[in-house]
Amino acid sequence: MLNVIKRSWSPGVAGNPSRLRRKIELCNQVGLFGAIATTPYQLFYFFYDFALYRGVFLFNLLFMTVYLVVLLLNHWRWHRAARNVLLVNVCSQLFVVTFFISAGAGVHLFYFTIASILVFLFKRLRVTTYVPMMVLLGVLYLSAHFLFSPGSVPAPVPSPWIDIMYAGSVTGALALLGVFLYLFRKQIDQAEDELTRTNQHLETLSNTDPLTGLANRRVLDETLAQEWARLARWPGALCVIMCDVDHFKLFNDHYGHDGGDRCLREITAALQGVLSRPSDLLVRYGGEEFAVVLPGTDQAGSRYIGEKLRQAVEGLNIPNEKSVTAACVTISVGVSGIDHFSPDLNRHGVDHLLKRADQALYQAKAGGRNRMVFLPYLGASTLVEQ
Ligand code: GH3
Ligand code: MG
Ligand code: MG
Repeated sequence: MLNVIKRSWSPGVAGNPSRLRRKIELCNQVGLFGAIATTPYQLFYFFYDFALYRGVFLFNLLFMTVYLVVLLLNHWRWHRAARNVLLVNVCSQLFVVTFFISAGAGVHLFYFTIASILVFLFKRLRVTTYVPMMVLLGVLYLSAHFLFSPGSVPAPVPSPWIDIMYAGSVTGALALLGVFLYLFRKQIDQAEDELTRTNQHLETLSNTDPLTGLANRRVLDETLAQEWARLARWPGALCVIMCDVDHFKLFNDHYGHDGGDRCLREITAALQGVLSRPSDLLVRYGGEEFAVVLPGTDQAGSRYIGEKLRQAVEGLNIPNEKSVTAACVTISVGVSGIDHFSPDLNRHGVDHLLKRADQALYQAKAGGRNRMVFLPYLGASTLVEQ
């Protein structure tokens, strides 16, 4: 049932950006409301005294047709024309009907409802446009109210019908206002949800490496800064591991770029398999370089993990025919770490930790590759190799 109702205001909506979609829907909804709300009045005119009310009846038929034309215009994608025709039609109808049956029927009260809907139908109305439009609606309301008193109109409605009509108009205007405010609220909520989803998607994109699906360097920098701040305040340890694929250029040259990409994805999975704690972070640092942040892991633990990472890639047994150091794809691993009680904690900052892991990696390369080297945060000559 709800779907049938929704479909009735869907002409011209599909395929448009969400913002325009909402405006077209609203335009169609007002058009439908205008046609439907006129019907009970028409029934009265027709059955009560058609000879007396013929004029207002025929005018209303015309207005009802135009309301439906609004939906047709939207269907033909003439959205701007549809919106303008709708507004002119509503304003004219309110004025003409009041002219025929007098302000006593309260039909002109709908001007206020239209005024509030105007804000949403038009695209970012400037104050210089909005104010004259509101003034025009106010003038139309006041002139309809004071010009067309029950004694001076061509087809006055007798009591109690005039009072029933007035009650109907007030109820209709208020109900219309309530319904549209509810719909606006829903549309605003929808727009906010869409925006939140888009933002989340963009944030994920900006933090993710498309080839491996790993976090990227941005995330590494943020995480390191956070963990460093935590380490400064609370007892604990922090380690960083840098990994670089050995002779990957030769691999690429031999197996092609696609083969290289596949290899990088396999290495990613192997590295991920080694890390088990939720706080461990693996990122793609650069082309064939990976970095690991291990919060709360001491030096012995990080050396253990570094070696496990190396073994995991070696264990993949991906052939690298052209490599001069090993028959299969291997990585070199540089590890560095520091803990809360180190007197050097505040000497150089977190960048130095990364630099030390990089120096350790360099030493691993220089030492023959496919090996892990640990360097502490300070003490350049200290070298622990496995
Ligand atoms: P080393 O053992 O000294 O690290 O030698 P290497 O050949 O690995 O080092 P180098 O830095 O000279 O080469 C890295 C190569 O990694 C260069 C490039 O062809 C390859 N590479 C970098 N990013 C990608 C990528 O996204 N996909 C592929 N297929 N290859 C990449
Ligand atoms: Mg490299
Ligand atoms: Mg390399």
